[in-house]
Amino acid sequence: MQALVVNRRGPGSIEFDEHFAVPEPASHEVLLRVRLASVCSTDLEIVRGYMGFVGVPGHEFVATVERGPDRLLGKRVVAEINCVSPDSPARDEDSRKHAWPRTVIGILGRDGAFAEWLAAPAENCHLVPDSISDREAVFVEPLAAAVQVLRDHPITPDSRVAVLGSGRLGVLVAQVIRDAGAAACIVGRNAETLALCRSLGLAARNIAELDAADVYDLIVECTGSADGLRLAMRHEPAIELLRQRRVVVEPFIQSEFPLRNGAEALAAAAQPGGLKILLRPGGVA
Ligand SMILES: [Zn+2]
Repeated sequence: MQALVVNRRGPGSIEFDEHFAVPEPASHEVLLRVRLASVCSTDLEIVRGYMGFVGVPGHEFVATVERGPDRLLGKRVVAEINCVSPDSPARDEDSRKHAWPRTVIGILGRDGAFAEWLAAPAENCHLVPDSISDREAVFVEPLAAAVQVLRDHPITPDSRVAVLGSGRLGVLVAQVIRDAGAAACIVGRNAETLALCRSLGLAARNIAELDAADVYDLIVECTGSADGLRLAMRHEPAIELLRQRRVVVEPFIQSEFPLRNGAEALAAAAQPGGLKILLRPGGVA
């Protein structure tokens, strides 16, 4: 199968492999055919050596279940990324992310979605409603991370929140905050992205315009790329936010690459101010 393999020929190497072995799912796993994947900052960190990962990265994806239990067979799904063995007592996502041993799709000890196929535990899969497109569904994982911000820092409708960074994560966090009824202002440097945010009704300011008079109750830092450390996944609320169109994601897609141009896609995602880059096995639809 086609796969994008990183670090196999030494740190930083990215190769497109046309003949990578199709994964053989264990009895508690399903075989997934990747429809669309997206590149996030964690993938870029992985190529730079984060987690010492060698293999196929990719943890933001939507796939079709090609082999698995009846309730999932032939269905479109997204997957929680933390995987534990079926006899682990960790069942909910919170305990799974601390369980040991565990693997993390495309990040730790398990190949990910920058390939035609991947294997994942059946219990990790969540059905994607028909009203959510593939291009939207790839945002479930990062949106779940954005939802986590509010869980860690409860806000009220009076809260004034600044979201630092108008990149891939910042635009999702700001929308989740707005959905919670509070005022969120995206503070960034990239004029184009700030303009895009304003066109979607989000408050956005250039960081150069801020002064000491600007007071916020909460500042959410979304400029870094440490999201791989925050592996919490709360897919159900993220899927609902997309299904009810309470968060919009399509305008934040920058471009789509065929998997064979994966190295180019990762380079594009590493550009400052870059938005979402998608990878499609088999080519661009
Ligand atoms: Zn990610």
